[in-house]
Amino acid sequence: MAKTGLRGPYQLTFDGISGAVTRQSAGVYVLGHTTDEGKFRIQYIGRSDSDVRETLRSYIGSNSSFKYGYYPSSKDAFLKECDLYHDFSPPGNKIHPDRPKTSNLECPRCRFFGVPRPRG
Ligand SMILES: [Zn+2]
Repeated sequence: MAKTGLRGPYQLTFDGISGAVTRQSAGVYVLGHTTDEGKFRIQYIGRSDSDVRETLRSYIGSNSSFKYGYYPSSKDAFLKECDLYHDFSPPGNKIHPDRPKTSNLECPRCRFFGVPRPRG
């Protein structure tokens, strides 16, 4: 089984998020719960291009736990999000992660965004 490489799991509560996510940064997160056997089950993955803590707060109540990682840019976060999406196929993600606004990034794992048009 692939590993997420993210920190956690932490409780998806206001205090849990505030205690674990201390920087304002782009980042990637997974939401889910820990089974009785102690395994973390991923339900949903996502990305924040500017503030992963703020984004996680909007999900309080949706799942019991989360994991996260900081990334230095929305590009890095997007690439990680794509890896997680293809490694885990989370049941809560009905469609492929979207790329950051105003970017022409391609998913490194599939052709979801198609081949870029030649310029000129
Ligand atoms: Zn892809």
